Amino acid sequence: MAQNVVIIGSGPAAWTAAIYAARANLDPLVIEGQNIQEHYDRGRPPLGQLALTTEVENYPGFPFGHMQSFLESAIDEKQRYLLTPDPGTDQKHSVTGPNLVLLMKQQAINFGTRVIGDDVVDIDIESRPLRVQVEEGDWHETHAVIVATGASANYLGLESENRYKNAGVSACAVCDGALPRFRDKSLVVVGGGDSAVEEADYLSKFASTVYLVHRRDKLRASKIMAQRAEENPKIDVVWNHTVNEVLGNDQDGVTGVRLDSTVDGSSRELEISGFFLAIGHTPNTNFLNNKLELNDKGYLKWTVPFRTNTSVEGIFAAGDVSDDYYRQAITAAGTGCMAALDAERWLASQGI
Ligand code: NAP
Repeated sequence: MAQNVVIIGSGPAAWTAAIYAARANLDPLVIEGQNIQEHYDRGRPPLGQLALTTEVENYPGFPFGHMQSFLESAIDEKQRYLLTPDPGTDQKHSVTGPNLVLLMKQQAINFGTRVIGDDVVDIDIESRPLRVQVEEGDWHETHAVIVATGASANYLGLESENRYKNAGVSACAVCDGALPRFRDKSLVVVGGGDSAVEEADYLSKFASTVYLVHRRDKLRASKIMAQRAEENPKIDVVWNHTVNEVLGNDQDGVTGVRLDSTVDGSSRELEISGFFLAIGHTPNTNFLNNKLELNDKGYLKWTVPFRTNTSVEGIFAAGDVSDDYYRQAITAAGTGCMAALDAERWLASQGI
């Protein structure tokens, strides 16, 4: 028998859509992807991008608190092995990214959401009900689909960069910038677009110096943003340099960076405590095989203003896969809610 709604994804958008769909008695099925190292390495881990962050201080409802006792009372015993370790003190602290999403997943399961740990590899938009294929080979028939597969932050692909992820390397200044390890320290932001300037500007509130490392002699960022970087006394733009290696050790994480000049090939090292990437994101849409309309930046297009409809009737999109602008956990959760309500109303209009 066909499902009412299949939700594809495993971040805040997917679990929020599941909570709403389950409470609307739609009995949702979430296909959350496989829990394999390859997905972490590609910046596409189970539980979404929040799984790559440390503490989350800006998600409403989670002020500092005694998280461990709260988590143990909220998370089902069978899922507790997924909890990221408590920082190890009895001091209050904020929720970690992975634990926050695990709470959302638990909330969805509590209302009856069913979960499959496989990757979706294809979607048949011609048939009704729609059909969604997982890597294992099975096709799942469903009347509606919510795509909430997120976007992956782009990394340079250096082995040293991978080694210090969560130990000073981050692709989200807003998520991680205020952490104690970065305060009053020198940091690097790589990139020359609006995101890089925005992240550098944000980090300059906490850091002693922010080196904005760009591979060319001109920023891609809009004029007003570029001016902001140039006028900020804490931002030092390092023109015409690429990153050769992130330096560090197991105890301290990131301690420096080696840069190569694109002009004369010379190398220089900077002493830093944090290394932030702002070289763009890639929405996770490959499995759709170009069957749904994308916007000019490659993100899934909402085809009705302020609604989560895509170009295919019965398929809705939520979270970062359809958002190249806000890209926050709370906005992803918000659009997940919208997609579930849109799907519920569309199903009702079809008499399902
Ligand atoms: P972007 O505009 O595509 O800029 C990416 C930057 O990363 C470019 O400067 C690029 O260098 C650099 N880059 C890419 N790959 C690299 C590599 N392998 N090594 C070194 N550098 C690399 O991306 P974005 O800054 O994330 O912005 C995305 C969109 O969101 C844009 O349309 C932007 O206007 C918008 N946005 C707006 C705001 C705002 O208005 N407040 C804030 C953030 C983002 P090159 O310049 O040499 O190509």
